[in-house]
Amino acid sequence: MTIKYSIKATHPEAHIFTITCHIDKPEKQGQQFQLPSWIPGSYMIRDFAKNIIRFEAYDKSKNKLNVSKLNKSLWQVQACDNCISIEYDVYAWDLSVRSAHLDTTHGFFNGTSTFVAVIGQEEKPCSVDIQKPDGPHYDEWRVATSLETLEPSLYSFGQYKAENYDDLIDHPVEMGKFDLGTFEVNNIQHDIVLTGKHRADIPRICDDLKVICQTHADFFGELPQDIKRYVFLTMVVGDGYGGLEHRSSTSLLCSRDDLPFKGQHRDQQQTTEYRNFLGLCSHEYFHTWNVKKIKPEAYLPYNLNKEVYTEQLWAFEGITSYYDDLSLVRNKIITAENYLEVLGKTITRVLRGNGRNKQSVAESSFDTWTRFYQQDESAPNNIVSYYTKGSLIALGLDFTIRKATNNKKSLDDVMKLLWIEYGKKSIGIPEKMIETIASDISGENLQGFFDNYLYNTNDLPLSDYFNSVGIKLNSYISDSVDNTGGAKNTTDSNQMSSVTIGARVTNNPLGAKLTHVFDNGSAQNAGLSAGDIIIAVDSIKVTKANIEKIINSYSIDTQLEVYAFRRDELMSFKLKLNSAEDNTYYLEFDKTSDLSILDKREKWFNY
Ligand code: ZN
Repeated sequence: MTIKYSIKATHPEAHIFTITCHIDKPEKQGQQFQLPSWIPGSYMIRDFAKNIIRFEAYDKSKNKLNVSKLNKSLWQVQACDNCISIEYDVYAWDLSVRSAHLDTTHGFFNGTSTFVAVIGQEEKPCSVDIQKPDGPHYDEWRVATSLETLEPSLYSFGQYKAENYDDLIDHPVEMGKFDLGTFEVNNIQHDIVLTGKHRADIPRICDDLKVICQTHADFFGELPQDIKRYVFLTMVVGDGYGGLEHRSSTSLLCSRDDLPFKGQHRDQQQTTEYRNFLGLCSHEYFHTWNVKKIKPEAYLPYNLNKEVYTEQLWAFEGITSYYDDLSLVRNKIITAENYLEVLGKTITRVLRGNGRNKQSVAESSFDTWTRFYQQDESAPNNIVSYYTKGSLIALGLDFTIRKATNNKKSLDDVMKLLWIEYGKKSIGIPEKMIETIASDISGENLQGFFDNYLYNTNDLPLSDYFNSVGIKLNSYISDSVDNTGGAKNTTDSNQMSSVTIGARVTNNPLGAKLTHVFDNGSAQNAGLSAGDIIIAVDSIKVTKANIEKIINSYSIDTQLEVYAFRRDELMSFKLKLNSAEDNTYYLEFDKTSDLSILDKREKWFNY
């Protein structure tokens, strides 16, 4: 017996999808329906049910049935001997990869925002009739999704199907007048769908994506078997960035300027923005194995009604972040120099964050629900990212295994074993199991490594790792917090400033607004706080554009009078300038490296 859903953009101008669900055999005591509170991959309680603005139920003869609400996401329909149908409206106006968005130009939804679970019947097969909006305006709309089609041809409105509820909600759907590119990996069709205003060179993007996807497929030896087709659903906007992984698709949000334009010469070096876009695609595609299949025991099955805790997100987001860019240098989509620049930026981000001394990566993973996903102005001081520091732990683990086995084994072997023994068999990974597997593969007890860098807040010995492959890790004092590292210092050392205000600032009509005030910096010591708007330093009007230049013209220990608004109150502060920190990092190849070291580097890059 199939659970039959339908979805239609009934009022695109009012951002409303109308959904129906038909159940042949409802629960005798009254059928319950529930919408998830969070979406896998984005670890925050979002209470999607708050967007359900109408909920009605009917019996076979279209008589209305009573509906009572049991909690914020759970409905109960009165007992009924026969089949029942429910009908409800979802307000969809969140332009993100996590929820649903609908207007007269396109529609996008995740099943977690739109399809209620039929409690007790979650394992039953589902069908979903994706219906075209009414009116000639929508004549040219098509549908893009990795849901399996039941009857329509590809990209059409009509009947789709899913194995069960878990499958139903893991295939986001795009509808509208999108552009499409197609390529194959291991004989499986892959589509890239672009929605929104753009002038992208789709054939070029397909060529690059094909190389990236093939690299990951070769790395694990195969595509997961249930992938019949893979879709990159891409929303192109003026300014945006994000991605969310699904079992056979990914939803992406990117900026128009990230993509190469039609007519742009292919042999031109990629822009940094395009490299970032390819890195994002690489990241989400790697997740097809790592987190969609190789996943913590706690996620099997997902409980989508409350927080689910694991300390392992460093392995799912950190390891994925490590391989997303490393794979690009391995398959020569980017140069080794590009890769060092990206790594240098990651190292700068991690080592500038004081929060890394207060929170371990394991704690960051466990508390992601309330801290990483609910960051406020204190984030740089108080939390560490399991993405960025997690990727450095992955790098450290890779180098540690390589050293212990004289380069015969690496993190690659850990990932392949995790795929064969856990992911492919749909077995969840118990907490700490990856650490045991890594120790087994290295032939050494790596508990000290994990204690230091995962469960405690120690910094990784990055210079040692890089020295072993003939790469030097350098640092310098930057004259701007906007310098995100990765490259050599271009400022003449004589003109270099050695002071800093110790805060991040943004534009404000009144002056320079502090967004983040760093621990023990000049601004914090003076009593300035995030949210304050500095209007004058030493009696000179300041803005975001000139505040660093003005500050940099003074020497260490100078005391400056600063005027700032906190709320609507004008306050004055005595700001004593601290010396700037040596925390801007870049990597460069050591040209004096001998052959044995170059050989290690080539093995790391798979050259
Ligand atoms: Zn990720």
